[in-house]
This record gives sequence, structure tokens and C-alpha cells, in this order.
Amino acid sequence: MLKAIIVFLEFKILLSVMASEKLQNVIKQREQLLQKDLEMMLGSDIVLSESEQKVNDIIMKLKHRELDYGFENPGHFNVSKHFFSYKDNVKNTTLFEILQQMPKGALLHTHDTAVLSPDYTLKLTYMDNLYVCFESDGGIRFLFSSKTPKETCGTQWQLMKDVRYSSGDIEQFDADLRKHFTIVTERHNELYTDINAVWIRFQQYFIATGGIFTYKPVWEQYFYDSLKALREDNVMYLEVRSVLPHLYDLEGNTYDSVSTAQSYKETLDRFMIDYPDFCGAKLIYAPMRLVDRATIKGNLNTAREIKRRFPKLLAGFDIVGQEDLGAALKEFLPEFVEAANDLDYFFHAGETNWNGMSSDENLYDAIVLDTRRIGHAYALIKHPQLWNEVVRKDIGLEINVVSNCVLKLVNDVRNHPLAAFFAQNLPVVLGSDDSGVWEALPLTHDFYVAFVGVSNRHADLRLLKKLALNSLKYSAHDNKDEMINEFEIRWMRFIDTVVNNYEHSCKC
Ligand SMILES: [Zn+2]
Repeated sequence: MLKAIIVFLEFKILLSVMASEKLQNVIKQREQLLQKDLEMMLGSDIVLSESEQKVNDIIMKLKHRELDYGFENPGHFNVSKHFFSYKDNVKNTTLFEILQQMPKGALLHTHDTAVLSPDYTLKLTYMDNLYVCFESDGGIRFLFSSKTPKETCGTQWQLMKDVRYSSGDIEQFDADLRKHFTIVTERHNELYTDINAVWIRFQQYFIATGGIFTYKPVWEQYFYDSLKALREDNVMYLEVRSVLPHLYDLEGNTYDSVSTAQSYKETLDRFMIDYPDFCGAKLIYAPMRLVDRATIKGNLNTAREIKRRFPKLLAGFDIVGQEDLGAALKEFLPEFVEAANDLDYFFHAGETNWNGMSSDENLYDAIVLDTRRIGHAYALIKHPQLWNEVVRKDIGLEINVVSNCVLKLVNDVRNHPLAAFFAQNLPVVLGSDDSGVWEALPLTHDFYVAFVGVSNRHADLRLLKKLALNSLKYSAHDNKDEMINEFEIRWMRFIDTVVNNYEHSCKC
């Protein structure tokens, strides 16, 4: 009997050893899988120095604090909500403060007349010789002129100064006027019911501001001040997309697209003399996509002419406008193929929620046309075959998380495909698209949202550094090595600053 009991107990022990071994095996496999995932993530190839590790500890504490609080209280997780509701609050966080100071490399996806804030535009309406037309449908247009403009207006052209001072309440008048220079509103749920509704409002911004910005002196000042704002946001180099509108002056002269490019060249030269630590800028000529083939042919010739006149200024060519409603890239394939020897392409493609529609399939055309980068590539997640092509051809993906939320491709940024692009180690750079229109900083908000709202909880300083380095690598700058060296110097300065200012004082 005793022997039977002993055998039984031994059997029990054996079972428990086996169970424990099985458990250990499962734990080990889990650990290996997790490690594989972490080792594949964008930025995992970067090795942090001792001082970088100190900064990493600081920012990870800050990141984890925000994430873990959100995990416990999902209703209070800022970045899962609408951007308008948290854009100002996050500016007061230590993490945002650090990210703002961080050298972010280059801004490779932005549109020239949508960088600065509505307050900046409002100030421009105080300039002399500005006329305003309040359209009966609620729209607004402006023109600088030495006498009452002859252009059509549904009501009448009035001198801006007269309208403002006869309003009786200048503060209220300016507050109402400012609404034309931003799409931010507390009523976004009610007004922006779908992607087309928000795009209509977005386009109204460009109509409202067009007459102000295309006045030649303002055009040049706006670009100069955009460069200044980028520099202050710790961006060192810019590639800006522009439709290159015709400019005008008070004497009634108009200037064609090539002259507009010349304005950029001259303004950039002036800026580089004033701020020699900036690494320069290039232009991507990006006219509207909702046009016919003859117009595109003409646009491509304009791009060739700009390249001939200002070879260092022009990076390449793109077309812009809402992809779902505009012409698809494939409609212009003969023209694009013909110009491919002369011009580099930087196509917007896949800025859509649709699958298999023309806007989604723009991705195929962009890739076969050897685009240098893809603007947005939001829909790329649905096409694994194209991931391989992007890697094989080393095409940079310009991801604009805040834009994609504001323009209603995704409501909760945690569901943005960028999370998968990070995980898959795809060649990502962060852009900001039209930051001024939604009152964001030129690039810091996009870094903050991508880091806190999109990236893996384990993703750290290495991801941030990689994103900055990628922006330099995928740029069209003429001397990337020199720019990367300069970046490394600024990065080390940033690391020292954070260690000195936050290591002991940070309430992390
Ligand atoms: Zn864009």
C-alpha cells in the first residue's frame, strides 16, 4: 500500500515537473516572439550611447505615464480623441516640450500656403490696400489693390480697413474673420460629417486666403516666415509642395509660375544669409490633379523650365487635391512616362479609405513611375505586395498622422496604419501636410501624436532618432552626408540639454 502511495506521489511530481517545463517553454516562446517583434521595429538598429540612454529613460517615463493612465482611463486618453480637443493642452506637457527641442531633421511633406497659423493670416489683413468681398454664400475673398478691384464679387469690394473700423466691435470682427483662416471648430462632429464635408471646408481656406497670399510681397514674406517657424520648431531643411499660383502686385502686374518659383529662390537666398545654420529648401511643383491631360502636359513643361532656370531649387513634380474626387495618376501615364527622364516624382498616393478604387490604385502607378517618395501612402497597408516594392525601390513614405485624423481618414489615431508601418520597419518619414490650417506646430505635433498615440509602448528614443534620420536620407538635398553630420552635432547638443535640464528636475 505504502509503495503504491509513493509511486502515485512520484507520478504527481513528474506531472508537475512536466507541466512546469511546458510552462517554461511557453514563456520562453512568448519572450522570443516579443523580442523578434521589437527587433524588427523601425529604429531598432540604432544603438544608444550612455547619455542617450539617460534621455531615453526620461522620455519613456513620460510616455509610459501618459499611456498607462490612458489604458486605465480610456475616456481620458487625449490622442485617441479629435485633434482639435487636445492640440493646445498637450503643448503644456514635458514630453511635448522635449520633442519640440528635439532636432527633427527635414520636413518633406507640407504645402506652402498652409504652414502658418490663422493669427498670422489675420495680421496680414491689417496691411494697407487690402479689399474684401463678403460673398452671399458666406465665403470671403480678398485682393490688394490701389483702387477698388474690378474683379467680380457677389456683393461689393470694400476697403478692409473701412469694414473693420465701421464694424463697431473690432475684437468680435477679427474673431469672426479668423474663422476663415482655420478649419478648427468645436462643432467638428456636426459640421465635418464625412471626408467630402471636411475637404470642402479645407478648400474654402485656400479660396479665402488665396488673394492675400498671392500678393507678391505677402507671398515672399509668408515663405520667409514659414522657414523661420520651421527653424524654431527644430526642422533643419524643407521640401515644400506648391501649386505655384500666378502672383500679382499693386501696379497690376501678374507673374507666372516660373516667376513664382523665382520668388521662392530669391526669398530662400535671403533667408539663408540671415540664418546660415538652416540647411536650405527645395520645391516640389505640385499643381492640381482635377485637370485634363493637356493641362498636365503644360504643367510638366513648366516644371522642366523651372528646373532649367533653377536646377538647385526644384526637387521634382507631384499633383495635389482630394484623390477620391480628382483624376487618378493612371490618366496621365503617357505624360508622366514621357517626362520621367527629366523630372523626379514625389506623388501623393493612397490618401484614401477606399480599397481597389482609383485613389487606392494610385499607389501602383506611383511605384511603377519610380516615385522618390509617396505622399501619405495611407492605403498601402492593404497591399503587402507593394510593401516589398517600397522596400526594394527604397521609396520613402511621407506619413501625416494629424492630417489623416483631421481630414477624417481615421478617428482614433491608435488605428492609424502607421503602427503597422513602424512594426514592419518600412521607410517612414513624418510630415505635417497643412499644419497651419489645423493650428498645429510645423512638425512637433505630428511627432508627439505618432510617438504617444501610434507607436508601440516599447518604441523609444531610437524610433524618434530614426524618423529624423530617415527624413534626411529620403530628402533630395544635394549634400546629405554633410547635413547628417550637422544633424548628429545638433542631436548631441539636444541630448546634453535634456540630461542637464530634465534628469534631476523632471517630474517623470
Ligand atoms: Zn499633402
